[in-house]
Amino acid sequence: MKDQKKMKQLTIRAALAASMFTGTLASYAEVPKKDQPNIILFLVDDMGWQDTSVPFWVKKTPLNEKFNTPGMERLASQGMVFTQAYASSVCSPSRVSLMSGMNAARHRVTNWTLQKDASVDGQSKTLTYPQWNVNGMQPENNIRQSVQATALPKILREHGYFTIHAGKAHFGSIGTPGEDPLNLGFDINIAGHAAGGLATYQGLKNFGNDENGHPQSVWAVPGLEKYFGKDINLTDALTREARLAMDKALEAKKPFFLYLAHYAVHIPLEPDNRFYQKYKDMGYEEPEARYASMVEGMDKSLNDLMDYLEEKDLTNNTIILFMSDNGGLSAHVRGGEKHKHNLPLNSGKGSAYEGGIREPMIVKWPGKVKAGSRTDDYLIIEDFFPTILEMAEIKKYKTVQAIDGKSFVPMLLQSGTTAQGRDLFWHFPNNWGVEGPGIGTTSTIRSGNWKLIYFYEDQHFELYNIQEDIGELTNQAGQQPQKVKELAQKLGNYLRSVDAQRPSLKATGQLIAWPDENL
Ligand code: CA
Repeated sequence: MKDQKKMKQLTIRAALAASMFTGTLASYAEVPKKDQPNIILFLVDDMGWQDTSVPFWVKKTPLNEKFNTPGMERLASQGMVFTQAYASSVCSPSRVSLMSGMNAARHRVTNWTLQKDASVDGQSKTLTYPQWNVNGMQPENNIRQSVQATALPKILREHGYFTIHAGKAHFGSIGTPGEDPLNLGFDINIAGHAAGGLATYQGLKNFGNDENGHPQSVWAVPGLEKYFGKDINLTDALTREARLAMDKALEAKKPFFLYLAHYAVHIPLEPDNRFYQKYKDMGYEEPEARYASMVEGMDKSLNDLMDYLEEKDLTNNTIILFMSDNGGLSAHVRGGEKHKHNLPLNSGKGSAYEGGIREPMIVKWPGKVKAGSRTDDYLIIEDFFPTILEMAEIKKYKTVQAIDGKSFVPMLLQSGTTAQGRDLFWHFPNNWGVEGPGIGTTSTIRSGNWKLIYFYEDQHFELYNIQEDIGELTNQAGQQPQKVKELAQKLGNYLRSVDAQRPSLKATGQLIAWPDENL
């Protein structure tokens, strides 16, 4: 009797072990493929659409003449230039969309994150802002005001990739699991944490830490002690560390996913001494000489990575995707006239106008993408998620979140488009805290060449034909009531379908009407 019971227990244990083993196998059902490409996702912070010598429009603009980016020119000559690539207008919404595949209206990390449970929304006399996901993106579902997501690097790692995070993370608020990239599926984290900005780019200033590595503010860059006291720019330090991390992937004989998310070219506008004097000698005024040197420093990093790939004979098996997370800063700090740093685009970072959301984007995919090619089809930042997984040949994967992004592989292969018949959506039920054109509490739809912006504060519409009027100077809402109605309905339907949040009226507590309730 006793033996029988023991046998039964053993059998149960064996069965349990077998089922656990099967479970493990199932979650790794897709074993890594031998020739999976390496993938470098090179994300620049706050870089404007024309802060580069590569033109992303029908012609070279005066701004293109102002900047020098030979690395981007090299990448563009080997890959595809996207002339209509979009992101959100500020950091966190873009970064969460990039890593989760969700649209900002769905993930609700609609403004930038930093402190736990604290909103950075500015004050309004008329509006109360919603309880948005101030704690950002999280790997678990027990953090209040956050969105749980299966992050892109986690899926890549489960399918054999060595996953490297270098630079700015800015996914979750301070004190939450999501602040650490290691909790989101990265094998290595270089200098990433909760903050979306930085104290200083200077190694001589220990990147904002004291000599023992203690941060002197929330903006101190962590983890780069070996460069303390050295005359090195953060952009260069990150690039050197990224190279060492790629060496580790090679040693491990794994394909790598390198997410190099530069802190550059975010403020503070400090000179990158490798290039600064050149711009001074060319007569650039401040702070634009400093800014141009930061842009070229960022570009040098891209060039250095491409050199590394050549040295290691990895060029033919490495994909490079270049992108920025929002439009170029123009509302403050920059030199010259405000809101004019992205002309012919209107406004800049924080704005629903093109200056706030249109990005420089290039993709190199050896053997797949035609060198020196170009597409005018539009896309948005959450599209990177399914695209990168498709490029990595990962077909079966599970996420806890719904994916809004569409793979742009058809555009890359020139075999089709995902832009046709597709509407793009932006949602910012917040207050960035800065004023300027298109900077406010808005929801936006782009449908073909038409773009409709709904401003919650006074509930007015602006309608532009982006193809004919890239500067968004002629509001056609008055002349085109049918088009306004059509787009407002699509926008309202979409926002309701993803359970988007809305501001409410301070005086009454009532939610502001959806765009299509206001016609
Ligand atoms: Ca940014």
